[in-house]
Amino acid sequence: MNVTLYFRGSLSSCNYACPYCPFSKTRDSAETLEKDRLQVERFVQWAGEQEQAGHRLSIFFNPYGEGLVHRWYREAMIALSRMTHVHKVAIQTNLSAKLDWTDGLNAEKVSFWATYHPGETTEDRFLARCSELHRRGIPFSVGSVGVRSAFGAIASLRRSLPPDVYLWINAFKDRGNDYYSAEEIAQLREIDPLFALNLPDYDSLGRTCLTGESVFFVQGSGRVKRCYSDRRVIGHLYRDGIEGLSAERPCGMKRCGCYIGYIHMPELELERYYGKGLLERRRLAQTAFEADLPFEPAAT
Ligand code: SF4
Ligand code: SF4
Repeated sequence: MNVTLYFRGSLSSCNYACPYCPFSKTRDSAETLEKDRLQVERFVQWAGEQEQAGHRLSIFFNPYGEGLVHRWYREAMIALSRMTHVHKVAIQTNLSAKLDWTDGLNAEKVSFWATYHPGETTEDRFLARCSELHRRGIPFSVGSVGVRSAFGAIASLRRSLPPDVYLWINAFKDRGNDYYSAEEIAQLREIDPLFALNLPDYDSLGRTCLTGESVFFVQGSGRVKRCYSDRRVIGHLYRDGIEGLSAERPCGMKRCGCYIGYIHMPELELERYYGKGLLERRRLAQTAFEADLPFEPAAT
């Protein structure tokens, strides 16, 4: 079975202090870090064991905080990228950590979801990291939160990035869905041609969604939820396994507004825009479908 697993351990700390983030400049105790390390290592071991069962895995680390400053996330990426039955391993990162460790990666299977946080790093420093990834042949997407104060920095980054590196902008929705003026939307779409896809919260109640069937959100302890939004626990990875967890489950939430969720709604057909880069939000090339994107897409 082809399965996508999001993994989030006990880590909840970051070396950055983004004002829009609850994990900014938090520190974890030594005990919590040790717990997180053991959770990540157990997950990697379990993933390795899935080859025998014939499963093919895509794995996405989305820690609360920055993972790559910790050795065990780097080791997990290397180990997973070398497993034959692992199709892809990706991680959300602020790219603050050095990249020399990436020598050990199988670059054909990894991808980075790199987020630029103006105010926490300089454009030059962030670009230097992007250039290094580029030089090493490691696929990555770059993105930023579309808060008004960051518009100038995002536009400047777009001008400086290699043209083949996609820059996505996350619509800022914390203050409701009318944060942007029409002019601002047009301006942001100039930078991110797919920004319109991220603007709405999609109506999802009762709709088909692959989460809970072939996509799972795994917590460090092994408890599994179907997605980022639905808090209900559907089982335990290490007790139930993929076969025990998988079931068709229509969405139980009214709306879905987060990329890591709505990309799993088949009706949205988002592979048309992202192709094989869907998981890590890489737009591979301009497609004819982009021309049909409405100016302000209505929720489905
Ligand atoms: S880099 Fe990410 S995790 Fe860290 S403070 Fe900023 S938004 Fe939060
Ligand atoms: S909230 Fe989104 S990700 Fe979760 S089940 Fe509904 S559509 Fe799927």
